[in-house]
Amino acid sequence: MRPIKHIHGDKEPHWVGDGFYVKTLVNHLEKNTDFNYQHTDPFLLLDYSQPMSFAPNPNYESQSHGVGQHPHKGFETVTIAYAGEISHADSTGGYGVIQEGGVQWMTAGRGIMHEEFHSEAFGQRGGDFSMVQLWVNLPSAHKLTDPKYQSIKRADLPVVELKDNKNGDPVGTAVIIAGEWQDIEQAKNRQTSESTQKTIQGAAETFTAINMWNIELHSLGTATLQVPNTHNVMLLMQEGELLINGTSISAGNLIQFEAPNVNRTAADNDSIKLEYSTATNDDTPLMPVKLLLLSGEPIGEPIAGYGPFVMNTQAELKQTFRDYQTGNFGK
Ligand code: MN
Repeated sequence: MRPIKHIHGDKEPHWVGDGFYVKTLVNHLEKNTDFNYQHTDPFLLLDYSQPMSFAPNPNYESQSHGVGQHPHKGFETVTIAYAGEISHADSTGGYGVIQEGGVQWMTAGRGIMHEEFHSEAFGQRGGDFSMVQLWVNLPSAHKLTDPKYQSIKRADLPVVELKDNKNGDPVGTAVIIAGEWQDIEQAKNRQTSESTQKTIQGAAETFTAINMWNIELHSLGTATLQVPNTHNVMLLMQEGELLINGTSISAGNLIQFEAPNVNRTAADNDSIKLEYSTATNDDTPLMPVKLLLLSGEPIGEPIAGYGPFVMNTQAELKQTFRDYQTGNFGK
């Protein structure tokens, strides 16, 4: 099993605009020597909006909740809508609504301006809202790529069944937003002990090797996730409580696993054990447990970041600010 290095969660939430109340659990500007960009590369930032309820907004037309026009450059923003809906519009003329269960993978590349708000329908009806926004770094070879979107609906995301380690019963699902899932089907006949392996590809195209999986456990049991030996790995615990590699983790925490180590044997490094157990014997219905797995091959390049820009050098960062001030942003 990949050992847990640290559990991060004691962050105060803050408002992004007036629409997103988030805990920043990963931040490339962090100076913490034990948890900085080196440990999260290629993930630059993770903002988590824990489930919260918004009242209907009667002034949606004049005062929608969210953030107005702002730029991004040098990376990708990935927005996952768990509850509620987010509308967006950008400087390339693109616009749309990220529906519940959907993902928007936006490549800012050489520069884009956009705005992010609660959708009109959600603003008017109100209700539960929960989302994750990630910033994924682009390697220098692709930093200035053309801006683009991947709008991925819930129905377009591959879903695989998680099976209990002991009896093979279904205990949950993994939704493969990005990356690869190795599905190992053990033969029913134990005498032949045959196994077949098939690879399930995530819905999003990525510039570097990344796994992004929404995990949900709905039954008691133990399931194992397989992660690459060479990746940085993190898990965001969103709802419920689980034993992860034997350690109890509650909602709102981010688990940082030990750095990849090619000298560790694969068996010690490439699996994460999720154990859903309960001490009570009563008939209370089980609540589903929800988590997000993030893993990525480190890009290993220097970064120079400030606000919404992440470049490789201070000179590129300064040039970006000059371009922004002189109306040459994104050109
Ligand atoms: Mn943005």
